[in-house]
Amino acid sequence: MKLVYVLFLSIPLFTALKRDNREIVKTSTIQLAEPKDTNADESFEVAAEAFADIQVLRYQIPGWNDLSLKQKELCYYLYEAALCGRDIIYDQKDKNGILLRKTIDNIYGSYKGDKSTADWKKFETYCGRFWFSNGNHHHYGNEKFIPECSWDYFVSIAKASDHKRFPKSGKENLDQFLKRIKPLLYDLNVNPKCVDLRSGIDNIQASSNNFYENVTQKEVEAFYAKKPTTGNAPSWGLNSKTVKVNGKVVEKVWKVGGMYNASISKIVMWLNKAITVAENANQKKALELLVKYYKTGNLKDFDDYCIAWVHDTESKIDVVNGFIEVYLDAIGKKGSFESTVSIRDDESTKRIKAIAEQAQWFEDHSPIDPKHKKKEVKGITAKAITVVVESGDAAPSTPIGINLPNSDWIRKDYGSKSVSLSNIIYSYNVMSARKGTLDEFGLNDEVKNRIKKYGALGSDLHTDMHECIGHASGQINEGVETTDKTLKNYASCLEEARADLVALYYILDQKLVDIGVMPSLEVAKAQYDNYVLNGLMTQLTRLKPGDNLEEAHMRNRQLNSMWAFKMGQKDSVIQFVKQQGKTYVQIRDYNKLRNLFGELLKEIQRIKSEGDYEGGKNLVETYGVKVDKELHKEILGRFSKLDIKPYKGFIQPKLIPVMKGNKIADVKVEYPTSFFSQMMEYGKNYGLLGVRN
Ligand code: ZN
Repeated sequence: MKLVYVLFLSIPLFTALKRDNREIVKTSTIQLAEPKDTNADESFEVAAEAFADIQVLRYQIPGWNDLSLKQKELCYYLYEAALCGRDIIYDQKDKNGILLRKTIDNIYGSYKGDKSTADWKKFETYCGRFWFSNGNHHHYGNEKFIPECSWDYFVSIAKASDHKRFPKSGKENLDQFLKRIKPLLYDLNVNPKCVDLRSGIDNIQASSNNFYENVTQKEVEAFYAKKPTTGNAPSWGLNSKTVKVNGKVVEKVWKVGGMYNASISKIVMWLNKAITVAENANQKKALELLVKYYKTGNLKDFDDYCIAWVHDTESKIDVVNGFIEVYLDAIGKKGSFESTVSIRDDESTKRIKAIAEQAQWFEDHSPIDPKHKKKEVKGITAKAITVVVESGDAAPSTPIGINLPNSDWIRKDYGSKSVSLSNIIYSYNVMSARKGTLDEFGLNDEVKNRIKKYGALGSDLHTDMHECIGHASGQINEGVETTDKTLKNYASCLEEARADLVALYYILDQKLVDIGVMPSLEVAKAQYDNYVLNGLMTQLTRLKPGDNLEEAHMRNRQLNSMWAFKMGQKDSVIQFVKQQGKTYVQIRDYNKLRNLFGELLKEIQRIKSEGDYEGGKNLVETYGVKVDKELHKEILGRFSKLDIKPYKGFIQPKLIPVMKGNKIADVKVEYPTSFFSQMMEYGKNYGLLGVRN
């Protein structure tokens, strides 16, 4: 269930969230650290274009040249299959998405007039934002955005472009065409929200995405209520648009011969080539089932595919390709197209495995009440991957962790794969280290240097433990209902706090040095400094003045940090200090802080095990919600001077087959430097869907 998807919000410190269907899982704390990746070419320029609120980055594929020709070939076919689905996300987000994109692609590519003017720059920025969001709704906030250049200017450049190739309808002339698209482009009241989650409204009617047409939320709910949900039921509605035809609610299924046929047929063609070079029988079987599913559109075939995919643990190359995550649908049924092609990162995977293998030891030595401990812990199987390409909903803004499949019963009966995206994280870290956040907010040289040296490793270890032993630990008392029922709106925050506390408690344990995943306890100190600084100060850069904390992960980080600050006050475990009028955080006793984290872990586990709603509410509301307005103002002021873009995404590497006759003799990798050029190239090479699908 979960793909661990992500939202990117990365602010000063790189903070990413991964989402799953029930909770939002935090993948990583903060990265102030200087990244180390022995495989990566350090002269590689990570930063590409920046515009509006976006910084585009680049990433490398370390280890590419170590692959066999057959593995490279497999990657190449999966890469083409990924990009052939790119158009689908534009259409899913908005039924006019392809129409608008073809129009702006055309103007951007063919306008020959003056491109040095401020107006052109505004249009160019709009194009960048449009491509980055896969449409004209913000990729993170889901609200519509419009060009900053005037409509008159837009008309002038449209008329000076190769407008014969605009996607006009029937006998429509240019003026009629422009009149038709004006409200789509320029009117904020037309389709204002791609996904509208407000309570008390018809969320399907209010959301402008293209998952439904002419149906009310009531009709859709009634339609799906008739489907069986017991046992091994598929995820109904995942691969279709739901519409009303002649008064009857029906599904238009996304499959070969159905909706999106032009893209899906190509995907299938490339997947069929991939099957011929599969690494082993399990992988071959999984790919064959994926092809079968794309042909039948039958969701039971999709489940069979997911099970086969979970069983494929030996392959070095892996792929996600399909209608996967449901966050773009206000009622969480429709899957957005996405694809991620990857190579297993064996070195980083060793670290995750070493921790997962000790899951029982960690449980046995945990500070929680013995009656809340699991007698037998099952760790999550996890690996680190090197991304080769991403497309659809996974690009240009990307997750840094993926956890699939999403179906609950498959996860329970067959397990899941949890992965972290090493080379993507590496690029983020390079960028974060360059921007002066640590210099501005770090206490002193000792703290800063330690974070520079060990912060990235500390953060990686924190994430590994959060995932592999944090969420997996502890048990609920007999007869107590699941936490979503007992702890309700505080369940996510408390669950994330619990997983973070397991990681924080153990990172300062000699055990981690003994099992060889970190060189010394200095790594733990770096992580404590990072975590507390973020929890008490720097994460507030994401809030507007006057806001309190609402998002579960942000609440959890402040809860853990603030509780330790308050409880440790008499021993001055954590202090706020002022230097030249600026506020800093200082940890004065790391071991005492560890004990405090252990105490809070014990209490939150008790709350979860007993289903103590009032206890949970009290903790979160007291420590995790309120913001110190004065401090917040100071932090925003200091942060604004650093000029850091809040959102980041990526240019994809380009795979180029070297042909010998009609056979692939090698596959080369190029790393394009311009996001704008790549978007134009993708539009040209992978613009497979028409304006009315
Ligand atoms: Zn989590």
